Amino acid sequence: SNKEIKASKKKNVQVAVRVRPMNSGEIDAKGRPIVKVDYVAKSIGLKEKSGVKTFGPFDRVYGPETTQSELYKELVTPLVKEVMSGYNCTIFAYGQTGTGKTFTMEGQHDDSADHSWDTDPTAGIIPRCLHHVFTELERQELDEYSVRISYVELYNEELFDLLGSGNYDQSRLRIFEDPIRKGGVIINGMEEVPVRNRNEVYRLLKMGAERRKTAATLMNVSSSRSHSVFTVTVVMRENTTTGEELLKQGKLYLVDLAGSENIGRSGALNARAREAGNINQSLLTLGRVITSLTSNAPHIPYRESKLTRILQDSLGGKSITTIIATLSPCSSNFEESINTLEYAQRAK
Ligand code: ADP
Ligand code: MG
Repeated sequence: SNKEIKASKKKNVQVAVRVRPMNSGEIDAKGRPIVKVDYVAKSIGLKEKSGVKTFGPFDRVYGPETTQSELYKELVTPLVKEVMSGYNCTIFAYGQTGTGKTFTMEGQHDDSADHSWDTDPTAGIIPRCLHHVFTELERQELDEYSVRISYVELYNEELFDLLGSGNYDQSRLRIFEDPIRKGGVIINGMEEVPVRNRNEVYRLLKMGAERRKTAATLMNVSSSRSHSVFTVTVVMRENTTTGEELLKQGKLYLVDLAGSENIGRSGALNARAREAGNINQSLLTLGRVITSLTSNAPHIPYRESKLTRILQDSLGGKSITTIIATLSPCSSNFEESINTLEYAQRAK
C-alpha cells in the first residue's frame, strides 16, 4: 500500500538549513541581507547581481525568526523517539564560523539571568534534548533505566576528553577497534558520566563548554578548527508480561563541527587552506562518507578520519543522520554561503 511505501522510504540522511539574523557588525559594515527562505518550496535563495540563485529543496529550512524551541520541536523530537526505541542518531551542525553552529547545538546561557537552563529560550539542542529524554523516561514508567553522557573534542585528528579530570593535555584519548562489535570502536579512558537528573547535566555541559574555550586559549588554537561530540546514551529495561527482560540502548550524537571555511566548492580543500596546512581530515572525510551513503556506494570511507570512525556505528544502516547547515544572511559572506549550500545539496 501507499502507506507501506512511505514508511519504507524513511530517509536516513536529512538536511536542514538555518539562517541566523544579521548581526551588528554586518549592519555597521553596510552589509545587505541576501538570503531568502522559501518555506513552501523548502528552498533557499541567494541574491546575486544577475538574479537569485536557488538551492534545495531541503528537508527543512529555518529563517532568522526561527526560535530554538521551534527548531527543536520539528527537527529533534522525532530523533529522540528513535533513540528511545533503541536506535542511534546523529545531528551535525555544519557551516562557516560565526553562523550559529554552537548557538544551535548548545545555545547561550546567561547565569545571571533569572531563568534556569530548562526555561531559557536561548537554550540549544543539547540541554533541550536531555530535558526531553528525562521527561520521556519518567513518563514511560520503565522498570529501570540509565542515562550516560560523554563529551569529547577532536582537534587535528587528536581526541580530548572535555569531561576528563586532569588538565586538557592529559585528557588525550586513544581509539581502538572493538574486537567484538564489528565496525565499532572503543575510546580508551573516556569519561562516561551517569546522570540521574537534569541539573547534573547542565553542570557537566557547562564544564565541557568552559574546558573547550580554555583549551583553545591555552593551546593558542581557534576553537573554530575543532569538532565537539556530545553523546547521550540511554539504556532502558522492561519486564514483559510474559516475564522476559527487554533491554534497549539508544545513542544520540550531537556534533558541533569545525568551521567549514577551509572547504572549497568541490568539497575538497581549497588552495589557501592547503598552503596554510589547515587540513581538516575529519571534515573532508565526513563529506565523503555522507555522499557515499546517500549514493549507496559500495565502499564507505569511515576509516579515513577519527570523526567518522567514532561515529561509524551511527552513520548509515538504520540510524538517522541530520545535518543542520548554518548560514549568515549577509552579502559579505556570499561565497561561503554558496559553499555551505552546495555541501548541503550534495548531502541530499
Ligand atoms: P559558530 O559556532 O558557527 O562559530 P556561534 O554559534 O558562535 O557560531 O554564533 C555566532 C554569534 O551569532 C553568536 O554571538 C551567537 O549568539 C549569534 N547567533 C547565531 N545564531 C543565532 C540565531 N539564530 N539567533 C540569534 N543569534 C544567533
Ligand atoms: Mg562555535
